[in-house]
Amino acid sequence: MRRCIEQKREGEALAAGQWEAIAAAFVEGAIDDAQMAALCMACVLRGMSFEETFALTKAMVESGDVLHFDAPGRIVDKHSTGGVSDVVSLAAVPLAAACGARVAKLSGRALGHTGGTIDKLETIPGLVTALPAERFIAIVESVGCAIAAQTEALVPADKRLYRLRDRTATIPALGLIASSIVSKKIAGGANAFVFDVKAGRAAFLPDAQRATELAQWLVDLAARFEKRAIAFVTDMSQPLGRCIGTAIEIVEVRELLQGRGDDRAVELVLAISAALVEEAGAGDAAERTKRALADGSGYAKFTAMIAAQGGDVAAMERMRLTEGSVIGAPQSGYVRAIDAVALGNAARRRWEDDALAGLRIDVRIGDRVDRGAPLLTVFGREPGQVHDLASAVELGDEPAAPPPLVYGRYERSISAIM
Ligand code: URA
Repeated sequence: MRRCIEQKREGEALAAGQWEAIAAAFVEGAIDDAQMAALCMACVLRGMSFEETFALTKAMVESGDVLHFDAPGRIVDKHSTGGVSDVVSLAAVPLAAACGARVAKLSGRALGHTGGTIDKLETIPGLVTALPAERFIAIVESVGCAIAAQTEALVPADKRLYRLRDRTATIPALGLIASSIVSKKIAGGANAFVFDVKAGRAAFLPDAQRATELAQWLVDLAARFEKRAIAFVTDMSQPLGRCIGTAIEIVEVRELLQGRGDDRAVELVLAISAALVEEAGAGDAAERTKRALADGSGYAKFTAMIAAQGGDVAAMERMRLTEGSVIGAPQSGYVRAIDAVALGNAARRRWEDDALAGLRIDVRIGDRVDRGAPLLTVFGREPGQVHDLASAVELGDEPAAPPPLVYGRYERSISAIM
């Protein structure tokens, strides 16, 4: 292992066999965290080639079980590289299922300043995300969708590595991110994927060009495993939705699926769910997903999925935001930037002991605000600590253009793939 770390430190590519041996030894505990962290840091600083990334992805898939769906037809899955107020999965999965797609979504927990879909879902009383493989598959077959946590049996190498990278500031390496994501998708058993790669200051790869490269790698890696994929590069220079936390994001998703969503969040949810429907092989995807949002069938699928996973739908429907403390604008001006990393970190500290704690961002980049107008609302106990959060919203005299929501969409013409 020491030799591999040295090689990577010097910028050399490791061979496929070396990545295989590293993944296997790490899962067995034969490589300790110190050595693995050093290797990850060398990957962050020196980069990994596409071939190395493919080798690591394959080795990570082989470190555990792979799910198999027996029923004919395509199973689709979706993954985001992580964002703040990223409510897309929770809304797009049931919307796509309401249009006939079968969506088997494996999700992760919060990472760094970003929220985790599993943490959000688990705030619904009774809801189980640690689904045994047979139950996960059965729910997808009967309801049309399920969202489960990655179990110990699926990609154990990534499970350990993900935690280690979170602790050692070694998330932002293109090859490590791509292999982490694609290994989980392959192990989850779906045959087509939709990736949402975030770009902007709160993304793990803030630079739009690097994010585009990651989008291309995700699609190309999926193709190496003979899977179809579409990748979007989308904006994370400000929170996507309005609420930042865990249960309060469930409240936002409920509102969105009942037709009262924030415009930007709704637009992305519709784009991603339409791509899922398209990948599932159904035509007229954009129209169908819009209809499923408007006629409530997406919301009905959301509650059916919650019930199938043991969740108390009535309790979810009773969830309400408590009265929050409003942080007002210290001066009049235009919103020029929003530090979504600071907001994500603040919300993550707050939700540790109170699921309905968190933040709501009341402005968008480009908005004009008057002195004293709400910038943010803070929910949960002890709001006294958070007044410096006003500095997360940068105000200025010059108008700022709102950033685009979708920077690009990437897919390969891989008609040979089912
Ligand atoms: N999401 C993942 O699943 N893995 C990463 O490394 C980063 C984001």
